[in-house]
Amino acid sequence: MFPVEKIRADFPILQRTVNGKPLVYFDNAATSQTPQVVIDTIVDYYQNYNANIHRGVHTLSQEATDKYEQARILLQQHFNAEHAYEMIFTSGTTHSINMVASGFGSLLNKGDEVIVSALEHHSNIVPWQMLCEKTGAVLKVIPMNLDGSLQMDTYQNLLSEKTALVFCNHISNALGTINPIKEIIDKAHQVGAAVLIDGAQACPHIKPDVQALDVDFYVASAHKICGPTGVGLLYGKQEWLEKLPPYQGGGEMIETVTFEKTTYAGLPHKFEAGTPNICGGIAFGAAIAYMNNIGFDAIAKYENELLDYGTAKLLEIDGLQIYGTTNKTSVISFNVDEVHPYDIGTILDKLGVAVRTGHHCAQPIMDFYQIPGTIRASFAFYNTKEEIDILVAAVKRAVAMFV
Ligand code: PMP
Repeated sequence: MFPVEKIRADFPILQRTVNGKPLVYFDNAATSQTPQVVIDTIVDYYQNYNANIHRGVHTLSQEATDKYEQARILLQQHFNAEHAYEMIFTSGTTHSINMVASGFGSLLNKGDEVIVSALEHHSNIVPWQMLCEKTGAVLKVIPMNLDGSLQMDTYQNLLSEKTALVFCNHISNALGTINPIKEIIDKAHQVGAAVLIDGAQACPHIKPDVQALDVDFYVASAHKICGPTGVGLLYGKQEWLEKLPPYQGGGEMIETVTFEKTTYAGLPHKFEAGTPNICGGIAFGAAIAYMNNIGFDAIAKYENELLDYGTAKLLEIDGLQIYGTTNKTSVISFNVDEVHPYDIGTILDKLGVAVRTGHHCAQPIMDFYQIPGTIRASFAFYNTKEEIDILVAAVKRAVAMFV
């Protein structure tokens, strides 16, 4: 049996009330909650060894540097990267994607093609549009099916020797679709294209193996994986990170500086200009360790039970439609009749239930379904079936007010 009650005790926020009701937190795809061990790690840093890293000879600086570099090794082990220096700390997925897109500005030529999927978050669309505008490259889109899956035959037809890059999320934030990324990567490699996988939504549920995937870039945010906001990850294969120019100039990323010429530091420092989010990086490591302690197989199994239970219960409501029914993770995106998602979301909040409403930064998906948005309930391993019952009762109450 999955020890959910024991796990819930690790998350102090789950004890609070909202509008006089016990909090039911189903907005995990936006940001996950933080266990005490991660909060303690943050407090410990500021109480005991707050100092700048990599350049101090004093004890505090050395302690902070050691912990920060240990966190990098933890990430390397978790993602099974070949080298720790392939793990670049960033401020989050958006930052990581922009680093790669900006770097490719000097590698792409007019007429090169870049492929994105129809299921992307805006942060995996806009930077590539900006890149195409700058370079004259052409953006192509893998279309989606009604069930929320990608049209893989069309993908095959879009690929050619002109394809330079392919971008796709591992799991869609709006629908929860788990994309066939191994197939996407292998097919792209057959035409010599590089692949970036946006793992923002996958990492809370799956332990990705970047070497087995043979992926060129993999990006993620700590705040979706029980870590703090403002820190994330760019994994890049060494050969690609060496090819890309640095994203920002400044301290820490140089080897030598004169007014005539600057030479850049090696990996990972070349991409880590300025003082990083030191505490955030260390806490990211603590969060990954916490989740590994529970175990990703156990997490996925339990979350699938929640998904099946929630899907069955919600579908008992007349007029309720779920968007995205293909192979997916514990995300349920739905609407009820013509009721605006925002109206239902507001009532749910009054009843203590936190969900996300709107387009979820994925407007093309909403356009595809011709809807303004959805209500998204996203479950984490610390949620329970009893909480799903509360959600279902609250949706029924809200619908009764509007239909
Ligand atoms: N991609 C996906 C699939 C996401 O779900 C998110 C966050 N909602 C992002 C990218 C952006 O992540 P961040 O805001 O942490 O940079």
